[in-house]
Amino acid sequence: MISLIGKTPKELADEWSLSPPFRAKQLFKNLYSGIMNFDEMSDLPKTLRETLKANGTFFSAELLRERVSADGTVKRTLRFPDGAVIEAVVLTTDKGRKTACLSTQVGCAMGCRFCHTALGGLKRNLSAAEIVEEMILLRQKSGPISHIVFMGMGEPLNNLDEVVKAVEILSSPECCHFSKRKITISTCGVVPGILRMAEEKMPMKLAVSLNAADNKKRAQLMPITLKYPLEELKDALLHYQDAVGRRITFEYVLIDEFNDSIGDLTALCRFLNGFHTPLVNLIPWNPTPNLSFKSPSNNRVHRFLQAAADNGINMTLRRSRGRDIEGACGQLAGKDSEK
Ligand code: SAH
Repeated sequence: MISLIGKTPKELADEWSLSPPFRAKQLFKNLYSGIMNFDEMSDLPKTLRETLKANGTFFSAELLRERVSADGTVKRTLRFPDGAVIEAVVLTTDKGRKTACLSTQVGCAMGCRFCHTALGGLKRNLSAAEIVEEMILLRQKSGPISHIVFMGMGEPLNNLDEVVKAVEILSSPECCHFSKRKITISTCGVVPGILRMAEEKMPMKLAVSLNAADNKKRAQLMPITLKYPLEELKDALLHYQDAVGRRITFEYVLIDEFNDSIGDLTALCRFLNGFHTPLVNLIPWNPTPNLSFKSPSNNRVHRFLQAAADNGINMTLRRSRGRDIEGACGQLAGKDSEK
């Protein structure tokens, strides 16, 4: 069986030998209209509908498991035909936003020491079609989605071609007509990817997982620092800021007695100097099995927040969502498929 969701009209035309040329667009549009049955695609010729029914499926992925957190966050585990397992999350926030947190890779190669996804290493990249499938499956199950963040499993800037292609499909009027400005790409600091986003003036938002503003400390948490030290990362981000003119969001995972001192905050202020109205999302570390870090106490979190405010840093505390279903930041590991 050949799956259809996430394929471009050109790919559909080639795979199904479609003509005349508008036929592929017509099929493409039908796939996202909510009709989940080839028989009901009444604007397609009967012979094509029969062929699609006999040889096609909407999704390649199978929904393995769904877990709902006490706070309403939903984590879904998907398995692709080659056995690759990923997880995707829907978060509903107080402001009425419904955000899809999508994976871009099966596993991750970046090796961040505090992140559960890193423990299994990288299996492979997701294709654009598979990324679109994630989103459409979430939409089908959870209803309309208002925002997308590429903050699930993987490093989006190491799979940027496919991520960009997925964004093109999702933003096309015949698919979800999703605004690119409501899509965030989050990176651990892959400099060539940031420079490409600047070069191509990509309209998606950029978020950077900083987590420490001192090279030595950051390298202990994030090996990527050895490849792209903070000075090089900052240069690339300032260049991006000039080229694209959008505010950059920084993520700072707060770890008890590691990066939560006033000295750490001072280093952060120094790093942020030069950015226009940067926003820092403070994420108290979410516990993951087999890692020996500790979550900071409320006292230490608030001391850090207060020190940031005193220094004029715009920092917001991210309430952890989905911790009870291992669906919070850094907890996605595809382990639910084994239970
Ligand atoms: N590779 C990308 C996207 C995936 S990680 C990136 O690094 O940005 C998404 C976010 O989760 C990152 O900001 C990361 O710092 C954070 N994170 C990872 N493990 C975490 C944990 N155990 N607790 C809290 N946040 C975590």
